[in-house]
Amino acid sequence: MKEVILGKYGELVLKGANKAHFEALLLRRVKARAALYGNFDIYKMQSTVYVEPKDDACDMDGMLDGMKKIFGFVGVTVAAVCDKDMESIRACVKEYFPHRLVGVKTFKVEAKRADKTFPLTSPQICREVGAYVLEAVRGIRVDVHAPQRVIRVEIREGGAYLHFDQIHGAGGMPLGASGRGLLLLSGGIDSPVAGFMMAKRGMIIDALHFESFPYTSERAREKVLTLAQKLTEYTDTMYVHVLSLTHIQEVIRDACNEDYFTLLLRRFMMKLATAMAKKHHADAIITGESLGQVASQTAEALYVTNALADRPVFRPCIGMDKEEIVAIARKIDTYDTAILPYEDCCTVFTPRHPKTRPELAKVIEEESRIDFDGLCAEALASEYTLKVTRDGYTRVER
Ligand code: ATP
Ligand code: MG
Repeated sequence: MKEVILGKYGELVLKGANKAHFEALLLRRVKARAALYGNFDIYKMQSTVYVEPKDDACDMDGMLDGMKKIFGFVGVTVAAVCDKDMESIRACVKEYFPHRLVGVKTFKVEAKRADKTFPLTSPQICREVGAYVLEAVRGIRVDVHAPQRVIRVEIREGGAYLHFDQIHGAGGMPLGASGRGLLLLSGGIDSPVAGFMMAKRGMIIDALHFESFPYTSERAREKVLTLAQKLTEYTDTMYVHVLSLTHIQEVIRDACNEDYFTLLLRRFMMKLATAMAKKHHADAIITGESLGQVASQTAEALYVTNALADRPVFRPCIGMDKEEIVAIARKIDTYDTAILPYEDCCTVFTPRHPKTRPELAKVIEEESRIDFDGLCAEALASEYTLKVTRDGYTRVER
């Protein structure tokens, strides 16, 4: 008997004229993912993507797990497929369900008939298939109100599909549906979560990381690349651009009022992010900032840094508590890496009394003591890029 993986569209079904374009993006993702797990036939029908193994060597569990991480599907499931007649369905129930229902006491059947030429109505299909299950599985009974398992029968164009309730998909929109975002990726908990959340809304994510050798270490950079690698479970490939802030930080330290160190640094980051977004064609900048979390994340401080941005800055964590951010970090498996205690450039030369309610004019006055544009140009010249995949990373020109 044949098994297929089904992925059911989420929001995509509502997208009217853009639906075909988004479907194509989704299929591209499924194909890229499937290439990792074997030789599959992939096609779409009735707001569902079908992933059908072409041979026994296909890793169905791996692919099912992979499908759960593709944005655009609300649900995924493995179904047994057979011909669209009641005898075949009966044989399929007998073969497919008994060992999958061991220990299960109650069930019900739900049927859907996308193919309206099928001779039985949906209630009739439910009754018949229910009887087949009772016949095949000892000790089980029907409970239509609170069953332990629901068996779904779908009569579709290509055959009859039998499966349990679908499991949750990743939701959201297929990657590429919302353009490209440049994620400011530190080694912390918040920024990988922010990247995940915007990828979920359909953004292809490139990352920008700032390092500050020798104040930050090789290990700190490795940690960031590990986080990027974890995100590739959802994004496939990710380019991580790295810029050095060492000289900028030393100049700020030597020339400016200590209370403004962090704000000045964050303005440099925003200016550099803007230049990098332009160079790498990103439509938006993404950060992991959360309102009130630290001194540089008050509304006033965000105003001061945001003033240098020339495109939208998405801060999906802005209204979230740390606990909520941590819950997502755990779900996407970035948490354990993020809490490793390596220094970030934001944690070197930190002021004892950072300004939480800065005035833009005062910040600009501090900035006038240093060659802001010259330092930005120098930092931009330090760029190098790593291409991160689930297998690791390599340095590339881009
Ligand atoms: P995170 O947990 O992501 O590190 P955080 O709570 O430590 O965030 P900050 O260090 O103030 O907060 O940084 C706020 C945001 O600025 C980060 O979420 C990230 O988007 C960006 N950022 C901070 N440090 C770096 C860095 N070294 N490289 C790139 N982006 C950074
Ligand atoms: Mg940080």
